Amino acid sequence: MGTQFRIVLYAPDAALAARASDEAFERIARLDNTMSDYRSGSELMSLCRKAGGPPVAVSDDLFRVLEKSQELAQRSRGAFDITAGPVIHLWRRARRRHELPDAKELAQARRLSGYKLLRLDARARTAQLLKPGIMLDLGGIAKGYAADEALKVLARHGIDRALVAAGGDIALGAAPPGEPGWRIGIAPLESPDAPPSRFLLLHDAGVSTSGDAEQHAEIGGVRYSHIIDPRTGRALSGRSSVTVVAPNATSSDGLATALSVLSPKRARAILRAYPHSAALILRQSEQGTRTFEFGWAPLAAQGDVNSSNQR
Ligand code: ADP
Ligand code: MG
Repeated sequence: MGTQFRIVLYAPDAALAARASDEAFERIARLDNTMSDYRSGSELMSLCRKAGGPPVAVSDDLFRVLEKSQELAQRSRGAFDITAGPVIHLWRRARRRHELPDAKELAQARRLSGYKLLRLDARARTAQLLKPGIMLDLGGIAKGYAADEALKVLARHGIDRALVAAGGDIALGAAPPGEPGWRIGIAPLESPDAPPSRFLLLHDAGVSTSGDAEQHAEIGGVRYSHIIDPRTGRALSGRSSVTVVAPNATSSDGLATALSVLSPKRARAILRAYPHSAALILRQSEQGTRTFEFGWAPLAAQGDVNSSNQR
């Protein structure tokens, strides 16, 4: 999944901590094998090779992620779209070469994208890609899912005071002993390496930050993000950072990507469909950084979004 996973946990003894975390990391490695778009042998890639053909039976894990993705695609009217693989691929190359994608290639890639081209059948647990050449990209949601699943492995060992972080996507269990929650820092927009400008105090939740701080490139003086707007086929430009708190990291990961694409107004509307979720949106504009807070706004304004009874 192109990131490092980190586990922090409290256990009664070191042997249990080692056993549980080993198993959690194994679970993550298996999910990487399932959902990677880098490994040609992944289940995801083998599904894409069958694009244009009949429905394909998929594993429980892959089906759950596809289902969540499609739900978010519908609710965001395509702002979040895992079928944007060909478009994402062109922009990834563009960032590497510091050269905008070719207009013809981009038009062709867009014809192969659109969440309605992925059909799921929950009863048969199959997925069907309606055109040959469709490429799915789970980069906007798979890390959150893997973090959630790793946390579940720890819980099966009786460890619930734990944190699993996959870069900017974090799954949180119960709070550390004697603490009200896990303190999660949010970097300021202007200087991502500076100490956090805000803190959240959370437990039993997912929290994700999406932004262009870590992965972007300048082409012709414009800063392009690794997040694209599937509705226009263009990479996002301009600085932004979106942090979402949700009941789990699968939701927070997907939502943070989706809300990055949308206007604050639309972002707020979508968030209403997700109970127990909150968002902090930082956008750079000509007037400086603009901040939008949705969800537990009064709490967030004090610098803390306090979650309880979330799962
Ligand atoms: P990060 O990878 O930094 O944690 P995100 O969770 O926001 O950030 O995921 C960004 C990745 O999601 C991109 O690298 C790409 O693979 C994929 N992606 C980009 N734009 C979209 C989009 N609009 N909908 C779904 N996935 C996207
Ligand atoms: Mg995401």
